[in-house]
Amino acid sequence: MPVRRNSHAALIDDLVSANHILCAEGIVDGFGHVSVRDETHPERFLLARSMAPATVTVRDVMTFDLDGEPIDAKGRKAYVERFIHSEIYRARPDVQAVVHSHSPAVIPFGITGTNLRAVSHMGGFLGLSTPIFEIRAAGGPATDMLIRNRTLGAALARSLGASPYALMRGHGSIAVGDSIKQVVYRAIYAEVNARLQMEALRLGPINYLTAEEALGAMRANDAVIDRPWDLWKSKVRKRGRRN
Ligand SMILES: [Zn+2]
Repeated sequence: MPVRRNSHAALIDDLVSANHILCAEGIVDGFGHVSVRDETHPERFLLARSMAPATVTVRDVMTFDLDGEPIDAKGRKAYVERFIHSEIYRARPDVQAVVHSHSPAVIPFGITGTNLRAVSHMGGFLGLSTPIFEIRAAGGPATDMLIRNRTLGAALARSLGASPYALMRGHGSIAVGDSIKQVVYRAIYAEVNARLQMEALRLGPINYLTAEEALGAMRANDAVIDRPWDLWKSKVRKRGRRN
């Protein structure tokens, strides 16, 4: 079935690009990861081996089941926090892609009681509030803050609920979407929205987007999601050629 093989290869290519884009845009560094559900086997997902996202190639992409276990390890080491991905795919059949990052601007909103919410149309998908995962509630007072097992992953997925984005207190965030393009957009623009919200808070009370405005803006941006994706992809390609 050449068609199926080609579409699978294209999915892996997009996953590799997403790794590079998220690093180029300052969302991941040596840490953080992005995964996509296997379009032909919905009970599986694709995720790079444990490595810095900027250096991921097609050969580094592994396949996992929904228990977070690799089915084609071939000696490759998996990310400790792969259970973030497996338990979200289990809980959310609508989710096709997941980003976990430690991007810095969103972190203050997970630790202060000031809620991350849409302040500009590009962050419309954030809506009126962002859930916060409290690891102490699921893992007790002395974890190392990492999602090291299925139990913690399932608790994180419960905190996410039906939302597109969630904060992990004192750690980072997760973005989910219906495609690699959408989840990359969300990871990048949640960070942008957080920077804008912090700047605005220094000036005075914020006139936030309403629920209706946020939903309308989300739909408008989703309709042109190829445009930022093509830009981000061309930037990492140019960078690759220069090196
Ligand atoms: Zn992490």
